[in-house]
Amino acid sequence: MSRKLVIAGNWKMNNTIDQTRELIHAIKKRGCLTHKVDIVVAPPFTALRAAAKAAGDTSIQVAAQNVFWEESGAYTGEVSPIMIKEAGAKWVIVGHSERRQYFGETDETVNRRLKAALAVDLKVIVCVGEMLEEREAGQTFAVLDRQTTGAFTGVGAADLEQVVIAYEPVWAIGTGKTATADQADEAHAHIRARVAALYTPEAAAAMRILYGGSVKPPNAKELIGREHVDGALIGGASLKAADFCAVITAGLETHA
Ligand code: PEP
Repeated sequence: MSRKLVIAGNWKMNNTIDQTRELIHAIKKRGCLTHKVDIVVAPPFTALRAAAKAAGDTSIQVAAQNVFWEESGAYTGEVSPIMIKEAGAKWVIVGHSERRQYFGETDETVNRRLKAALAVDLKVIVCVGEMLEEREAGQTFAVLDRQTTGAFTGVGAADLEQVVIAYEPVWAIGTGKTATADQADEAHAHIRARVAALYTPEAAAAMRILYGGSVKPPNAKELIGREHVDGALIGGASLKAADFCAVITAGLETHA
């Protein structure tokens, strides 16, 4: 089955509104944009509107990096699904390991965010991935099973096409250590099998699973070229137009 590639840039807490406009204009100028790939950029909340405007009618789609699950109310500092949508986001990332590590995100809160985002027709990138100690203790698959099952509890099969999973081993994020293509493909195959067990083999075959963790132009082709790797979630390298575009081009080459 051929699955449309997704190349997504998680800008984390980087880029002001002006810098957001500059980076998007730089990406546009490089001539790497294509509708053959879902190209997503995730700036901070404050720059969502500017990013959507700068993207205009190109193939760049805008994502928020997080979302709260309530619609409105006394939740100081939180932003609701409808608010990020109104600001121009078509996608949202949930469950990033930095949110799990530093902001108390749990499988249960990932699940609440996923369901709330789907309820307003946002597309969602759900992040899963094991920590170094967990990998060393042979718990990688158990962690992926727990996180995937937890995230999808109560999510109907009809909503699955709005969802993409990102496998991001925590030990490879921002560290320069990449999972080998074999390690990534093995983890992705395991996640796909878990989706099959939760839903159906057809749903699992259609699910797009991205790899994230120090993806850069030199390693992109090998990773994205693997059977179960349907694109990349990129942190550091997505902050440079040349690198982001090079990963898009590498991805396209693997699926030519
Ligand atoms: C990320 O933040 O999702 C990520 C994978 O970061 P990096 O590419 O910098 O490792």
